[in-house]
Amino acid sequence: MSNSNLPSAVAVIGAGTMGNGIAQVFATCGVRTHLVDLDQKFLDRAVETIHKSLGKFVEKKTLEAAAADRAKQLLTTTTDMGVLSSVQLCVEAVTENREVKTKVFQAADSTLPAGAILASNTSSISITALAAKTRRADRVIGMHFMNPVPLMKLVEVIRGNDTSDATCELVNGWSRALGKIPVLANDYPGFVANRILMPMINEAAFALMEGVATREAIDEIMKLGMNHPMGPLTLADFIGLDVCVSILDVLKEGLGDDKYRACPLMRRLVAAGHLGRKTKKGFYDYA
Ligand code: NAD
Repeated sequence: MSNSNLPSAVAVIGAGTMGNGIAQVFATCGVRTHLVDLDQKFLDRAVETIHKSLGKFVEKKTLEAAAADRAKQLLTTTTDMGVLSSVQLCVEAVTENREVKTKVFQAADSTLPAGAILASNTSSISITALAAKTRRADRVIGMHFMNPVPLMKLVEVIRGNDTSDATCELVNGWSRALGKIPVLANDYPGFVANRILMPMINEAAFALMEGVATREAIDEIMKLGMNHPMGPLTLADFIGLDVCVSILDVLKEGLGDDKYRACPLMRRLVAAGHLGRKTKKGFYDYA
């Protein structure tokens, strides 16, 4: 079913962990959704993941089979950024790297219609700096979805220096129409979610490196002791260790404080290509 409180068409750039979840949520809510990535093989993998996830919702009877079919029909994939010329909203969800995001933002800005909103799902990179590279700073905003996107309620909405009230209102309304709860934060490194979460994950990695306890014990202590749904090392594997290290680098540089330096053990795992669940190995083995 289409929803008049949502844009009629969106583009999601980046078909990784987050991009495919964001695309799934828009398509399930009746929005024509274009998923864009560098290579068709990433897009094919994303479609497979989305179809599997929709199937699980149908199995659990939280989604009608017809609605899942409709979502599949509304989702298209492409490596051509030209598709952005027909959307009202573009959500960028590419790799957490400032240079990569800046290039994507410039390309998106030159193709999107004048009135379209350009949102970033970045975990930590300055919305203001990304906006400054475009000609639509008032229509650039952070839409920080949480992982796994189809299940998590929060959208941390980040207001850049020049984001307009109208853009904030529109994005808050769209987030609600997706069944999410938007919460506004200002544009400082890591915003709120990761400024608080990442130091905890990093400290857990230091505790493991220093032999304070086993990975299982660290996770169990935080799960049972703090009533967290999963331990910090399991969560880091879920987020992606490369993503965690990138966010910590942004926090360290942006806030100018060494307390945010990424744990060498986490850096070593990233250098080895053990990025967590997505590579089937991180702090834990998922093979
Ligand atoms: P990921 O590595 O799983 O996926 C990134 C995707 O972007 C890849 O498919 C890659 O091919 C694609 N990409 C890279 N450059 C591109 C370009 N120029 N054009 C098009 N596609 C390009 O990363 P992810 O975990 O999905 O993270 C994406 C964003 O979401 C990051 O900014 C990250 O900080 C943020 N985020 C991640 C999580 C998480 O739990 N992983 C949670 C919230 C926000």
